[in-house]
Amino acid sequence: MIQFPKLKAVKNYLKEYFKLLRFAKSYRGTLALAGLCMGISTIFEGVSLGMIIPLADRIFTNKEIIIPGKLPPFLVELIDKLNSIEPLIFLKYIIIFVPVLFLLKGIFTFLQDFLMNIVGQGVVRDVRNRLYSKFQDLSMEFYGRKKTGELMARVTNDVSIITNAISYALKDLIYESMKAVFFAVCAFYIGFKISWQLPLVAFVILPCIMFPVVRIGKRIKKFSLEVQKKIADLNSLMAETIQGAQVVKAFCREDYELERFKKINQHYYKFTLKTAKRMLVLSPFTEFVGVLGVVAILWIVGNEVISGRLSFGVLATFLAFLMSMIRPFKKLSNVYAINQQALTASARIYDILEEDPKVKEKENADEIKYLNQGIIFNDVEFSYNEDEFVLGSINLEAKKGEVVALVGHSGAGKSTLVGLIPRFYDPQKGSICIDGVNIKDFKIKDLRSLIAVVSQDIVLFNSTIRDNIAYGRAEASESEIIEAAKKAHAYEFIMDIPNKFDAVVGDRGFRLSGGEKQRIAIARAILKNSPILILDEATSHLDSVSEKLIKEALYMLMEGKTSFIIAHRLSTVQKADKVVVFDKGKIIEMGTHQTLIESDSAYKKLYDLQFSV
Ligand code: ADP
Repeated sequence: MIQFPKLKAVKNYLKEYFKLLRFAKSYRGTLALAGLCMGISTIFEGVSLGMIIPLADRIFTNKEIIIPGKLPPFLVELIDKLNSIEPLIFLKYIIIFVPVLFLLKGIFTFLQDFLMNIVGQGVVRDVRNRLYSKFQDLSMEFYGRKKTGELMARVTNDVSIITNAISYALKDLIYESMKAVFFAVCAFYIGFKISWQLPLVAFVILPCIMFPVVRIGKRIKKFSLEVQKKIADLNSLMAETIQGAQVVKAFCREDYELERFKKINQHYYKFTLKTAKRMLVLSPFTEFVGVLGVVAILWIVGNEVISGRLSFGVLATFLAFLMSMIRPFKKLSNVYAINQQALTASARIYDILEEDPKVKEKENADEIKYLNQGIIFNDVEFSYNEDEFVLGSINLEAKKGEVVALVGHSGAGKSTLVGLIPRFYDPQKGSICIDGVNIKDFKIKDLRSLIAVVSQDIVLFNSTIRDNIAYGRAEASESEIIEAAKKAHAYEFIMDIPNKFDAVVGDRGFRLSGGEKQRIAIARAILKNSPILILDEATSHLDSVSEKLIKEALYMLMEGKTSFIIAHRLSTVQKADKVVVFDKGKIIEMGTHQTLIESDSAYKKLYDLQFSV
């Protein structure tokens, strides 16, 4: 049973398709120009097919052109004129006319192709920029939810699919539809003149081509979804194992990782082949049905030509127009399949573009340039996802210039707490205030400028040591950078590297030791010179000699600054003004190192545990 696509499905399809075309909105002028070139080149193509009539009937056979039935006067006049020209003179005209015709057709074909490429490549550039800019806007909550590989696939793979749909499928949709309609009008006109049965044959063939095309297109859409998922899986697995290459090797898990990779790769292979099979079957199928039609036509009117009631050139031109319709339909069927893929890619891209950053800046947000009094947490509650509570009833004050040390077992919520200050995440309940104003009221950039973070995972960018140190203050002078490096005790080892400050940090900082990377990160924080410091296990990678040096540098740096230090090594927190002990997301104790150590506190237990080993 042939199933007609439901009206609602068609509406939906068109809605999605127009949304996809919105990517090319700013190229309307170029598209219109390309459309014009397509129109002109279609007419040239039609004329070149029409040349078959004089070539076949007049020049090579010196016979009359005969089109049966009643013709409009201008056509009768034209045919009479053509019939009266001597074949040899006709040949001369044709020799001049044909190259000019094809040259012009070539120029317009090139122009429309090139203009469509301008649109397609422009869309790639624009969508990539839009996606990347969205990535910069989105908050940490988004990055917690999405896999790196998946996001990379959006920017690389999905964007290419969309370009394909715009530079090629959209071109084909306009150009081939023009050709199909133009050739159909010509073919039907000539066909009706020859015999009323001919257009009927075409009416039977076209649906036979169209319906399978629609059905297969639907299957392709389903498979393409799977293919995209597998690419995202492959990407994230690769990202994971490349980043964690050392762990994989240390645990001898190479074979296991290879097997995992092969399994996903095999799935990808299977689904790509399934998609390819369906896409590739469309072309030969439409061609075969088309040829069946041509055979039927020859059967119906072959006799007319043999008996001289129709000139061969006219029949040949009719067949040429019909045959020329197959190519546009073939291409149009591919358009449907490519669009199916592109619609899913477009939906995924819009998912990201329409994503709302969870951490938003309020309108007319206040400026903040300095910290005057301090930071207060009022009854703060937080969870990454609704069902898992991470922080509860946090009340904490850090006065300006105080050093607050956060201690507690791993997973207690210390990093989460400090991440709330630069608004990486917003608490679900309660508020965090700086100088009595909720941090949500400040401009996000201003707020973050007040804070320097040295976290557990040190990220150095693939650039020079100088750029890495100046990451938070690009305008810093050379002497300031050197000064910061000296304070962080990084200057000595930088001077030992061949290119010194110009040395490029290798991929993910492989060429530097853990301690060296940490010192660069500390130099970066020192250079930023923000009034609030967050040091998350900032000294964990250092050997005891450099730890001592850095600790001194950090305490010097912390003078006059409000600092939050997370440290498992309790020796690093002894000088803190306030030690806050966390357990399961709650503050269980607060005091100075001295007061806590003197009482029977959880802190004392932690301390004893650490120093008894
Ligand atoms: P600590 O710094 O004390 O070791 P964290 O603040 O890192 O603790 O983690 C507190 C809890 O929050 C842990 O249970 C951890 O698994 C969870 N957690 C941390 N980061 C995320 C995240 N991005 N998404 C979901 N859960 C997280």
